[in-house]
Amino acid sequence: MSAPAKTANPAKPANFLRQVIERDLAAGAYATRRFGGAPGDAAHHAAGASDPARIRTRFPPEPNGYLHIGHAKSVCLNFGLAAEFGGVCHLRFDDTNPEKEEQEFVDAIIEMVHWLGWSWDANGTSHLYYASDYFDFMYRAGELLIEAGLAYIDEQTAEAMRATRGDFNTPGTDSPYRNRSREDNLRLFREMRDGQHADGAMVLRAKIDMASPNINLRDPTLYRIKRATHHNTGDRWCIYPMYTYAHPIEDALENITHSICTLEFEDQRPFYDWLLDKLADGGLLQRPLPKQIEFGRLNLTYVITSKRKLKQLVDEGHVSGWDDPRLPTITGMRRRGYSPAAIRDFCERIGVTKNETVIDMSVLENCVREDLDRDCRRVLAVLRPLRVVITNYPEGQTEQLDAPYHPGRPELGSRKVPFSKVIYIERDDFMEDPPKKFFRLAPGREVRLRYAYFIRCDEALKDQATGELIELRCTYDPATRGGNAPDGRKVKGTIHWVAADHALAAEVRLYDRLFTVPDPGREENWRSLLNPKSVEVIKNARLEPGLASARAEDRFQFERLGYFCVDRRDAAVNRPVFNRTVTLKDSWGKESRRD
Ligand code: ATP
Ligand code: MG
Repeated sequence: MSAPAKTANPAKPANFLRQVIERDLAAGAYATRRFGGAPGDAAHHAAGASDPARIRTRFPPEPNGYLHIGHAKSVCLNFGLAAEFGGVCHLRFDDTNPEKEEQEFVDAIIEMVHWLGWSWDANGTSHLYYASDYFDFMYRAGELLIEAGLAYIDEQTAEAMRATRGDFNTPGTDSPYRNRSREDNLRLFREMRDGQHADGAMVLRAKIDMASPNINLRDPTLYRIKRATHHNTGDRWCIYPMYTYAHPIEDALENITHSICTLEFEDQRPFYDWLLDKLADGGLLQRPLPKQIEFGRLNLTYVITSKRKLKQLVDEGHVSGWDDPRLPTITGMRRRGYSPAAIRDFCERIGVTKNETVIDMSVLENCVREDLDRDCRRVLAVLRPLRVVITNYPEGQTEQLDAPYHPGRPELGSRKVPFSKVIYIERDDFMEDPPKKFFRLAPGREVRLRYAYFIRCDEALKDQATGELIELRCTYDPATRGGNAPDGRKVKGTIHWVAADHALAAEVRLYDRLFTVPDPGREENWRSLLNPKSVEVIKNARLEPGLASARAEDRFQFERLGYFCVDRRDAAVNRPVFNRTVTLKDSWGKESRRD
């Protein structure tokens, strides 16, 4: 099991799952298990050696969409716990539903779990599995249940089944088909498999207790008839297992010890245990059996974390694709510039609880910021250029000024940035009639150009017709090279700039919250709550020339503007595209006054 390097974490946050596992290991609860080297039934595992994995967990996505931040939580939890306790985590595609699953999603999920830094290779084996490979076993288990008098074929309509299930206050009533003979049940089940009955004509149901206080135990459906082509098994099957039947079996065949899932499956746990217990009694499954443990799912403010709704956003064109940088999909966060380490750090920090939690987006953004702050080189970029002519600077001269890449990490080195007579500054850094607290450029005022000189604004040129500001005329003080005046005079502001003749043109995309409300998922009309200003595209930003060599996904801090990364998909004609990953927490104004 290769685990990614842990980010420093002084106090480990609450995670009750650790305690459960520690307790089980101390009690030797899983010590006797054998592993046949691949998933299989009791006989297969019995023939294997003692399981080299102290615990087995799994991440079991349904390949019907792209993974999102909630899945990242589950990925980090399952792979993280396995790594921590000398175990193995399987990547298992829960592909038992033929209708919504596609190879595209399988490929994307594999890529994203890898990208997050996890591996399912351990002890010389790749633990990548497909639940659909277990269809034969699942069918066999169905026959065993029938033979044990624990399942029957029900020909009631779906409506009749619903009506006889009862509710919280009323017990259900038995199906008229509940007491068929074993022989009839077996024959009908085989006919179902062999395609002799129409879709929906009958189902296989467990025979448990129609009066159980837990509705999930009122003879749940195990198999249905559905003529649909499956992405893995093609047209081989026309009956498919229900999720609640398939999942426990998948866990048991793979020797999973701790089957970690989200809270909505809590009421399914008695059925999970019932089913595996019966199959182990029948000799099909090895004991000790896996144990299901639930935790509260993760929700994030201002985004949607439901695959179905994310798919709607993509399909209806509200976003540019699954990897749109505004989406909380892993591929979207990657494109936005979040690093795997930042996402793992976030998943660890928020802990694991028994309650569903809504985490503020700012918690994730802070993890991203901390990670980027540590590693990103600082560079100069001007998003909305305003031309500045330095009237007393020699025509045709270019100086190469020394600029360190990181204020706190000299080992990251420095580069030369060109300076010449015409530069660009940020339009926002000039005000003709500034308010009191504005310390940047204004008529008659002096500021420091980062890594360069003090300049004073002498004149603001405007378009005669429109009154629009076109250009500033400034003078520089040659004695202030490097940013300090020998006479000790101070300036209050430091601004960023790039030399006009040397600048690299780029497209820059700025992102804001995708939704206008913190909890859009709760609202019926959630699509009307999309933020119409969630992206702003700046076509003509100017960057320091060294950025011409930046590669897709390289990350930088643009001084005073935030963290940016080179888009991994788009490049405009002859110019790179940068995405703003996240803004800076503190305004750079503060930082520059420290200089
Ligand atoms: P969605 O509701 O978005 O479709 P899902 O639970 O149906 O999610 P699966 O592919 O079945 O998607 O999920 C794979 C695993 O990820 C499951 O074990 C599930 O519990 C977990 N998971 C999904 N969403 C979250 C979440 N928001 N927080 C934590 N774990 C999650
Ligand atoms: Mg699901």
